[in-house]
Amino acid sequence: MTITYHDPIKATLETISMRHPDLSVEVHFANDVEGGAAYAMFPDDGAAPSIVLSSDIPVFAVPGVIAHEVAHVVVGIDAMHGPVWEAEYRAIMLDLHRAIVGEEAGPDVIAEIDEEVAMSRASDEDGTATDYVKAAE
Ligand SMILES: [Zn+2]
Repeated sequence: MTITYHDPIKATLETISMRHPDLSVEVHFANDVEGGAAYAMFPDDGAAPSIVLSSDIPVFAVPGVIAHEVAHVVVGIDAMHGPVWEAEYRAIMLDLHRAIVGEEAGPDVIAEIDEEVAMSRASDEDGTATDYVKAAE
């Protein structure tokens, strides 16, 4: 028997590692993630940030959620969902599309990225963003 398995999560992490070879981050899945999807945790003690993903996230959505949270880790917690985070998120998503789908992102993919950015920015503006947090000591 030959099983050829293409793991989109592994491909996502490898693609991000090529963009950010010095990045140090732990990615975990957990049950009962408050707020639903995922968050990036920035420890106060200088330890490497970590990303916690809800185990309820459908597998097809995991690469995009990892890209979203890694962008937070790369640009820092103070960037929130502002233009610096947006630029990093867009760059990672375009890398992922190229690596996983094998072609440049078309208008439909760009529209999905635009929608995610708009929703994330709105969550900053209405105070509901919960996906980047400092560790409580
Ligand atoms: Zn976010």
